[in-house]
Amino acid sequence: MNKKIENPTPNGIVPRSKFFPDKDKTDCPYYIANTRKCSHTNSSCVGPIHCSMFCPDDKYPRFNSEWSKETTLYIYKNSLICHNEKHPIVSRSVWLVGRDDLKITITNAEYCKYCDKFYLEYERFISLKKEFGILIGNFVEMYATATSLKAESTLHLNGYTVDQRYNLSAEDRQYIIKKLIDMEILTYKDILEYLNFFINTHKNDDRFLFAVAKWTEDLNFVLLQMLKLPPHIIKEIKSLDFGSS
Ligand SMILES: [Zn+2]
Repeated sequence: MNKKIENPTPNGIVPRSKFFPDKDKTDCPYYIANTRKCSHTNSSCVGPIHCSMFCPDDKYPRFNSEWSKETTLYIYKNSLICHNEKHPIVSRSVWLVGRDDLKITITNAEYCKYCDKFYLEYERFISLKKEFGILIGNFVEMYATATSLKAESTLHLNGYTVDQRYNLSAEDRQYIIKKLIDMEILTYKDILEYLNFFINTHKNDDRFLFAVAKWTEDLNFVLLQMLKLPPHIIKEIKSLDFGSS
């Protein structure tokens, strides 16, 4: 039961009156109807959008139960428009997935009530990745360049790399790929496009000898996984050029 977001403006900002109708005030556990005061702050109710206690999300806690691919976590570097525009931001927990399907709760993620988005600052994100090793989620890089392949930044944020310095095993790389597909964050087509593109653009460059071998290994892994799929899905993906030479 998610709240409806009607007619968002082009920049994604939802008009306050539609997003937070005043009647939501009465649903707040701290709201005292007869005095119109807040029992927590003991002063006048400031309304849901300016209040740090009440949030409609409390009624529909998307992050408090099971993983859902709708739970996008936006990773931002340096500044965030919500901070500059003084949007009402509250602290929320988010669920992510680690190695061996381990459920990981990240506390103190930022949730903007105005934009209805969850955010994590890049430096914190990196230190969490260091702590847990593998961290899988529907991560989206804020302000990422539009020219990059769709899957590239998602794979990268989820820790996928063939870089020698990180020395990720085939098992680790393929665990990340499989989780992203199973959790419907990326599709088989996304992954194949990504691997195919990097293999084809680097296969004649000796500096990428090991990288190409790893990408090819992962491509074969994905193709092997696809053999377990129903035929109609394979048909959809078949249109890709696999650059077999
Ligand atoms: Zn915001």
